[in-house]
Amino acid sequence: MGKDPTVDRKRNLTLVMTHQCNFDCKYCLQKHEDVYMPRETAVKAIDMLVDSVSKIKEQPKAQISFYGGEPLLARKEIEYLVTYAVEKLSKIPDLKYAFEITTNGTLLDQEFIDFAKKNHVILALSHDGLAQDPVRVDRGGNYTKEKVDQKLQMLLKTFPETIIMMTVHPEYASMVSASVKFFREKGVRAVSMVLAHGERVAWDDESFAVLSEELEKVEKLYEEWNKGNDAFRFIPFENKIRNYIRQKDADNAMCHFGCHKLMVDADGKYYPCTHFVGRDGFSIGSVSEGTDEKKIRDLEAKRVEAKDCEGCVLRPRCRHTCACANHGHTGDMSRVSALQCEYEQLTIRLADQAAAVLISDENPRFIERMYK
Ligand code: SF4
Ligand code: SF4
Repeated sequence: MGKDPTVDRKRNLTLVMTHQCNFDCKYCLQKHEDVYMPRETAVKAIDMLVDSVSKIKEQPKAQISFYGGEPLLARKEIEYLVTYAVEKLSKIPDLKYAFEITTNGTLLDQEFIDFAKKNHVILALSHDGLAQDPVRVDRGGNYTKEKVDQKLQMLLKTFPETIIMMTVHPEYASMVSASVKFFREKGVRAVSMVLAHGERVAWDDESFAVLSEELEKVEKLYEEWNKGNDAFRFIPFENKIRNYIRQKDADNAMCHFGCHKLMVDADGKYYPCTHFVGRDGFSIGSVSEGTDEKKIRDLEAKRVEAKDCEGCVLRPRCRHTCACANHGHTGDMSRVSALQCEYEQLTIRLADQAAAVLISDENPRFIERMYK
């Protein structure tokens, strides 16, 4: 993206379509209020993006993501907004644009999948694999795995590259490698993974030790599968490998805090990142007043490197300055939790282990994927 962050953030929007959800996941931090983004708020945000990207001369790009709660509870609005945005964005010469929705999958049907295909909408599915039933129940407390598995099959037929977004709850860390295997057997080619955080979960030494063992197993599977004909992407490893190859620091590559994206809450207020949506003191403007550049600079100034990290050789590849991860784990944007630090060290070590094997084998698919 461009060098001017004030332009960058205005061409990459996330619209929080609703705070409501039809699930009640064990780690969820959403309040599940019946709040939906009014159409005029979303249209104002899209108009701002269109105005901003139409002024960019070099490599114009735009992305609009729809977020929740469960965004597909506002499916009809999303269909309207995508159609509205396509109508405007398609008139801008050379513009590359895309839409993105991360959904729990229950409200997907073939009609919506076809709509997504036609309109450059990327669908990512949140699914916790074998931990889905104990962790991701619906609002009535019912299991959801069987239903979401069916939706996954439907999705993969149209979008074989669908990314699974898996969240690991500490009580179910022992299911990580079996879950990755399960996805692979279902035909999935890319799995992303984050650790559940916040007041509803508690990681301890024991659960982290289990997670480490599980990720060791995932590393072996990753090596084995990538030696075969089908590529399999385990995103936490691949991000670390790419950071190394491109010599781009992990924070700049992945942390969007106030620079590369704008989150628009249902009430039209802007936030620097999904984690901070609705939190007091973190609003950085609104659709009616525009971005508050001073507030953005003030927040950025508070996001400083933790003293403990000074001198660590892993700094360029570690997300130690990710405001969202730090705030989620410690309540402080600039304090890294012991868990995050250990997790970063673990994923970097395992990613390097896998990369060393696949590169020494001169694995052509892996090398092309990492270097392109
Ligand atoms: S699907 Fe997402 S928003 Fe809904 S309860 Fe689960 S984590 Fe929360
Ligand atoms: S590995 Fe730990 S000490 Fe090193 S930069 Fe990351 S969080 Fe800081």
